[in-house]
Amino acid sequence: MLELMQTTLLFDIERRLLFRGGHWLVRTREIPELGPYPSRLEAVEALYRHVAVCSGRLTQGEPTLARDFIRHSVAECQEPGCQICADLEALTPDPHQAQLNAAMPV
Ligand SMILES: [Zn+2]
Repeated sequence: MLELMQTTLLFDIERRLLFRGGHWLVRTREIPELGPYPSRLEAVEALYRHVAVCSGRLTQGEPTLARDFIRHSVAECQEPGCQICADLEALTPDPHQAQLNAAMPV
């Protein structure tokens, strides 16, 4: 888990995501409606990126990690076993997906 995501875990994701007209919007203090994003996962990524940049937390982390996170796109990433994708998915519990996971034998 990226340190900068850990430090922003307290943000209420549900309250900040808005689904309207087939797109996801992100509500932030600085930008009332960021987006639109075609998927919930991309909206979550945008939220975390925005918070990381606006809070100045990027400068506290590892520079390479900060750069990778800023350049990362969950929609375009094709890296197998990508940690950023895994972290974002972990932060985005999709009710349907959660059900699928629960049904799978461990
Ligand atoms: Zn990735």
